[in-house]
Amino acid sequence: MIPRRRLPLAWSDLRVLGSRTKDPAGTIAAFEDAIAAYLGRRHVMAVASGRDALGLILDALGLGRGDEIIVPAYTLAELLPLLQRRGLVCVPADIDPLTFNVTAASIVPRIGPRTRAILVLHQAGAPCDISPIVALAHRHGLPLIEDCAHAAGARVRCGDETKAVGSFGHAAFFSLEANKAISAFGGGLVVTDDDALARRIRTMIAGRPRRRWPVARKYLLRCIEEIAVRSPLYGPTARFLFAPQRAAAFEARYRRAHEGIRVPGAFTDLQARWALPRLERLDRRNALLNGLAREICAGLPKDFVPQQRDRHGDPAFYQLLVRVPGDVVALRHAAHRHGIDLAIRSEILDDCASLLGYRDCPVTAEVFRDTLAIPCWEGMGHRTVTRLLDGLDTAWRTCR
Ligand SMILES: *Cc1c(COP(=O)(O)O)cnc(C)c1O
Repeated sequence: MIPRRRLPLAWSDLRVLGSRTKDPAGTIAAFEDAIAAYLGRRHVMAVASGRDALGLILDALGLGRGDEIIVPAYTLAELLPLLQRRGLVCVPADIDPLTFNVTAASIVPRIGPRTRAILVLHQAGAPCDISPIVALAHRHGLPLIEDCAHAAGARVRCGDETKAVGSFGHAAFFSLEANKAISAFGGGLVVTDDDALARRIRTMIAGRPRRRWPVARKYLLRCIEEIAVRSPLYGPTARFLFAPQRAAAFEARYRRAHEGIRVPGAFTDLQARWALPRLERLDRRNALLNGLAREICAGLPKDFVPQQRDRHGDPAFYQLLVRVPGDVVALRHAAHRHGIDLAIRSEILDDCASLLGYRDCPVTAEVFRDTLAIPCWEGMGHRTVTRLLDGLDTAWRTCR
């Protein structure tokens, strides 16, 4: 089975686990400085997760009960309770059918007298058309928060230049989860140029315990999961767990299990040492995966429509998303029989508009219904790509 994803594991990660850091605080600060330099931003704070980073930004902005926040309709459902717990009212903005990103035009009708912030996502590494959104937020005096969980290393075209994703909003956050581009096996980043906001966040995280064991445990569990994904048992297991009658329940349980190993407390030196080499090769990684994605897209069945990723700049790589004019449940089932593991529906992201009770985000509903995530990972050789394309083609022909 060609798995849907592969986490890059390295022996050097294991060596980090077994060694001591001479100056833990200095190691973490050096990592934060390296990110700040890479993005061209003043302040970077490494925290427990991407979600933790978002929560800290909201709290530091003083957002709370009754305030409305505009959110992407197509994003991770776990972000909603994070906002709702703070009494915020989430108002979804629909996405563009080609880029899967929110646009200034989809945000405008959602701005009302109680709107207090705008959250945008650079979907699957594709930079959104951020300049008109920045202008819009500015006109209304609203803070703009960029969700860069998928987009570390992406750059937005601004005239003749490009500017890093994460340098546009009042604040931005990144995820350092194991399946994201800069893995620290869990962790997140807050970035901002606002001195007062940064100071408030530093104060909020100052008293947190720095515990290495939960981080080490999470690393080991991720390694075990990865070894399972790479083993010959993965094929039959995936076929069983992702069978149409079981997939939704399994996905929900899998997400809950991962909630259970989330790391509380402060960012540790271990995480900084895992993440730093990944930051150093981030551009190479993105170039490699974007090239591979282009190669795969060129060979897909003619009626598959890949997400348009480079319309507003140079994308980072997170997932290869493709819309198909047909039943993705049947297609995934058929693809399994041909040795290909695809992700669909909430295994990719969620229709948050519908979860929030909104029925007026038709593009999100369609993209959620019709999109596949196709395997595309580092180390995927030409023979695997050929096998993938042949298998997809055959599966598609049997079920359309
Ligand atoms: C991964 C992700 C986050 C943050 O995730 P954490 O697991 O909390 O680090 C935020 N938004 C989106 C869209 C994501 O995919």
